[in-house]
Amino acid sequence: MKAAVLKGPCLLELEDLPDPLTPKGGALLEILACAVCGTDVKMRGQGHRDLAYPRVLGHEMVGRIVEMDADSILAEGDNVQLWPGIACGKCRPCQRRADNRCRRIKIMGFNCDGGFAELLALPKESISCGVNLLPGNVDPALAALAEPLACCINGQEQARVCQGDRVLILGGGPIGALHALLAELHGAEKIIVAERLPSRIRLLEKHTRAVVVDPSEEPGKTALAAEMGREGVDVILTATPEVRVDGDLLRLLTPGGRVCIFSGPAPGNYQEMIDQRSIHYHELAITGAYGSSSRHNRSAVELLTSGMIKADWLITRRTNLAGIEEAFSHSSQRTGMKSVVCKN
Ligand SMILES: [Zn+2]
Ligand SMILES: [Zn+2]
Repeated sequence: MKAAVLKGPCLLELEDLPDPLTPKGGALLEILACAVCGTDVKMRGQGHRDLAYPRVLGHEMVGRIVEMDADSILAEGDNVQLWPGIACGKCRPCQRRADNRCRRIKIMGFNCDGGFAELLALPKESISCGVNLLPGNVDPALAALAEPLACCINGQEQARVCQGDRVLILGGGPIGALHALLAELHGAEKIIVAERLPSRIRLLEKHTRAVVVDPSEEPGKTALAAEMGREGVDVILTATPEVRVDGDLLRLLTPGGRVCIFSGPAPGNYQEMIDQRSIHYHELAITGAYGSSSRHNRSAVELLTSGMIKADWLITRRTNLAGIEEAFSHSSQRTGMKSVVCKN
């Protein structure tokens, strides 16, 4: 099979690899769509805590089952969305429905091979919880957005986004956009997205209910301050690595406010000293989110396939596997939103 293999920093090569065998108790999948994530771009350029080389990247995957070696309601020919985690199912977090915190977790596209390939071997552990059946008429590229949406569901669960909240999203790329759509679904009273790139601002204004402001210069700064009002916001979600969660940021929260550190903080942004009194007196909460559980993926698939979340506009580039460089550069140039590598 053809696969895009990352051999080291900035060394992504299209290669012929032996076809994987169907694992015992698992399944063999033909990949129909795999979306490029900001983390893929980061891993390609500089590696990642959970990445081991050489690696087939790609964790936002939709495939078709070509061979099945398990008793399952799923059958050959079914289209499925994949939760990229492979969890043990036995440890305490797994037992408590938080399999993304599994002590022995492996993640496809990080520490085992992922979806920028023609085929994928799906282990036994994935069959029971990590595979979500798709209706036959669903666009695989759209369904591939279920994984990043699932991560946003996790983030908003951590930050307890609910009806009537005022939500500030820092960063208006694909993740900021999904957060905006989801906050709207959760009944947020006001959604403000801070984003600098004009092309992304236009897309967000067209397709979401969010007020979008450019915080980098006047008059965006004033507009942001006006939108925040004197009371501040209930929730802040970071959707770019360039955010310092410091005293200045916490002052934007209303008492009882929550901030979710969603994007992995850039070097230099993760060792802030925070005045604990502000947390105490204003009953603030700082939380984090990393990835998503299988449960979040199921919810995300439902939201996308039912049309409760309309996200097709986020796909601004489609390529095939041979065009993976183009898919990565579209993502890293950040003029559009999401690129998806699709089967020919
Ligand atoms: Zn991702
Ligand atoms: Zn576990």
